[in-house]
Amino acid sequence: MPETAIMRETAAGLDARDPLAKYRERFYLPRTARGEESAYLVGHSLGLQPKTARAYLEQELKDWAELGVEAHFRAKYPWMPYHRFLTDSTARLVGAKPGEVVVMNSLTVNLHLMMVSFFRPTAQRHKIVVERGAFPSDQYAIKSQLRFHGLDPATGLIELTPRAGEATLRDEDIRATIDGLGETIALVLLGGVNYSTGQAFDLRGITKAGHAQGCVVAFDCAHAAGNLALKLHDWDVDFAVWCNYKYVNGGPGCVGACFVHERHAHAFDVPRFAGWWGHDEATRFRMGPDFQPMAGAEGWQVSNPAVLSMAALRASLEIFDQAGMEAIRQKSVALTGYLESQLEQHRGPRFTVITPREASRRGAMLSIRISENARRVVERLAEQGVHTDFREPNILRVTPAPLYNSFTDVARFVEQFLAALG
Ligand SMILES: *Cc1c(COP(=O)(O)O)cnc(C)c1O
Repeated sequence: MPETAIMRETAAGLDARDPLAKYRERFYLPRTARGEESAYLVGHSLGLQPKTARAYLEQELKDWAELGVEAHFRAKYPWMPYHRFLTDSTARLVGAKPGEVVVMNSLTVNLHLMMVSFFRPTAQRHKIVVERGAFPSDQYAIKSQLRFHGLDPATGLIELTPRAGEATLRDEDIRATIDGLGETIALVLLGGVNYSTGQAFDLRGITKAGHAQGCVVAFDCAHAAGNLALKLHDWDVDFAVWCNYKYVNGGPGCVGACFVHERHAHAFDVPRFAGWWGHDEATRFRMGPDFQPMAGAEGWQVSNPAVLSMAALRASLEIFDQAGMEAIRQKSVALTGYLESQLEQHRGPRFTVITPREASRRGAMLSIRISENARRVVERLAEQGVHTDFREPNILRVTPAPLYNSFTDVARFVEQFLAALG
């Protein structure tokens, strides 16, 4: 039997034993021009549409049509507290208490709002520690916050950099930087999972190291939420922000989310950029002039909930609740492990997996550095209905998403990838 046939057969066997395989049919899978299901391996960029999203959206369109403004109170799911329909699921998704999370705005907006409250530099303590090569939006947000406080990013921003010849950071080097800079650090702010290398950081260890030096410790979980089994509360993280359109499958431009640890729930004296939706609910509609924040994460809300976006997100979070984040992560470890083992068998000079090998140091995504013409490889794969993506300078990112990808998708990728390398 040819090698590819053996690989397909093994993958089919793994699919048959996969307890989460049934979730694939809960999503729409894009199809090729010939009408075949694509191997969609770019859930790190935009997650697929749950088939139930339409009904959730139509419910809100119907209530809008039939009730107009009255739907704020009389809709099947009243719009006034609509964001609360997402709270419990969101808390489960990231390992938080319900009062610690809120769905609102978009990721970068939430990052700014959180930094306004929790990045409060003093003459002595004013640095921000980030990973080198953080997502550009985060770099812009962080540098603009430094400048907002009159600080120079050239000295205020400390970028954690891999050792020469290495692609990812070592835990001990992160800790050594935090210990070394100690009381000059105001904020440690890393990605939960780096968007480019796929490295998952030791959130618990970093939080501990940062707190030992008196720093605020926060994470951008854009690539971690819905990917890793997070325990933001137990790990004692100060705040986190994320988007819901990547691993969380909430749809394009979906409203983002925010975690604020309960020890800050009553931090009413920290500065915050306020809006009426963060105001104490009991008196919000008295329309008084003075802002009194609600306790917990909801107190950072600015505007009233984006109901249509949240409706699609509800459909997705329902699936996460049914499957359970622990089981999803368990499948993810197996699925990405299978991908890695297949690539390992064809190891050679043409490509290198730069994502860490230990399951605990990565999520679902593998980043593959290609020796030449990575963009062309990505294009060739797409022509065969295998969707991956390209990041400068020569990285192909491939993500088997455990809710809708199969071991067969992975086998298909490996087969086509080797062919595309030529
Ligand atoms: C996807 C992503 C963003 C995108 O930010 P938006 O505000 O949602 O447009 C920002 N940061 C990271 C780390 C990301 O992965």
